[in-house]
Amino acid sequence: MSPTMRAVVFHGPGDLRDEVLPVPRPAAGEVVLHVDAALTCGTDVKTLRRGHPVMIPRVPTVFGHELAGTVTAVGAGVRGLREGDRLAVANSAPCGTCRLCAAGRANLCEDLLFVNGAYGEYIALPRRLTASNVVRLRAGTPAARAAFAEPLACALGALGRARVEPGQTVAVFGHGPLGCLLAMAAAAAKAHPVLVGKAGWRLEHVRGLGIAPCLDATTADVVAALREATGGRGAEVTIDATGRPEVWTQAVDAVARGGCVVFFGGCAPGTTVTVDTRRVHYEELALVGAFHHTPDLIRRSVDLLESDAIAPDGLLTHRRGLAGVREALEMMARGEALKVLVEP
Ligand SMILES: [Zn+2]
Ligand SMILES: [Zn+2]
Repeated sequence: MSPTMRAVVFHGPGDLRDEVLPVPRPAAGEVVLHVDAALTCGTDVKTLRRGHPVMIPRVPTVFGHELAGTVTAVGAGVRGLREGDRLAVANSAPCGTCRLCAAGRANLCEDLLFVNGAYGEYIALPRRLTASNVVRLRAGTPAARAAFAEPLACALGALGRARVEPGQTVAVFGHGPLGCLLAMAAAAAKAHPVLVGKAGWRLEHVRGLGIAPCLDATTADVVAALREATGGRGAEVTIDATGRPEVWTQAVDAVARGGCVVFFGGCAPGTTVTVDTRRVHYEELALVGAFHHTPDLIRRSVDLLESDAIAPDGLLTHRRGLAGVREALEMMARGEALKVLVEP
C-alpha cells in the first residue's frame, strides 16, 4: 500500500473537505516537500466563498498557497536540490518566454502556472515551479517566517510600482495582513507608513505591534487626517489593500500632487470607480494597479525575511493543525485572526 497523508481539499465554493490522499511521488523535474508551515490568507477566505478562476482553475485541489517545507523526494533531472533542503515556495511559476516575461513582468505572464496545496502534509512542486520559483533557506530560518515569502513579495511588488522613496509618506488603506506587510515593507524602504483601518480587535492588535501609526476610519475623516498629518499635501503614495471601490476612491482623494495611487486590493468583478479628471491631469497623479509577484520579488522577499529587515511574526495570531483549517478560515472571515499558522 502506498503511504497516505492528510489534506484539506477544495471542491468548490463553500466545500472544503478533510481527506486522506496518497503521498505524491515526484515526476521528472519535480520535488516533493513536507509542508512545515502554511499560512492562511484573505484570498483563501474569498476563494472559499466564491471560487477563484485564476488561482484555482480546476477542482478538486488541495487548498492553501503560502508555505515553506523540507524536500523529502527529488524527481529525475532536478538540479541543485536534494532531500533535506528547506525551501520557501512561491505559489506560481511564470513561463519565462512570453512577451511579458521577456519584459521583466513575469507577474503578468500570459501562461502563469498557479500552484495550490499548502494545507496538506506533502506537496509535489511542478517542474516549472521547482526550476524557477523556490528559494533554499538558511539553516536557522523558521519555516513560519519563510512562509511569508509569497505575501511579502506581493507587497514589495506594490511598492515597486509606486517607486517609493525614503522619507515619503505611504498611506496604506486596510489593516489586514497585507496592509501590515505593505507598511512593514515601506518602513524597511525608509518611508513613513500610515495604516488606515477600522476600529476593532484587529486594529488594536496591529497598533500593539507598532508597525505604523494607525488611523481609525470609523471615527476620523481619513482624507482630512492624512492631509493634516502631511502639512496639507497628502501622502506621496497611497495604497488600497481592502479591495473595496469606495476605498479606492479614498486612496485617490488622499494622495498628494504628483503622487502615486496603487490599487493593490482586488475588488468584486464588475465594480467601477470614477476619478476627478482635473486632478489626475493637472496634478499628474499616477494611478497604477499591482498584482502578484515575480521570481525576483520572491528572492528579495526571502532575503528581507532572513536578514530580519522585515519580521512579520507578530501577524501570526493563532496556530492550528490541518484539522483546524476550516475554523481558522472562519476566524479570518470574522476578523478574529490576522494570519493563522497551520502546521501539517
Ligand atoms: Zn496569499
Ligand atoms: Zn510568461
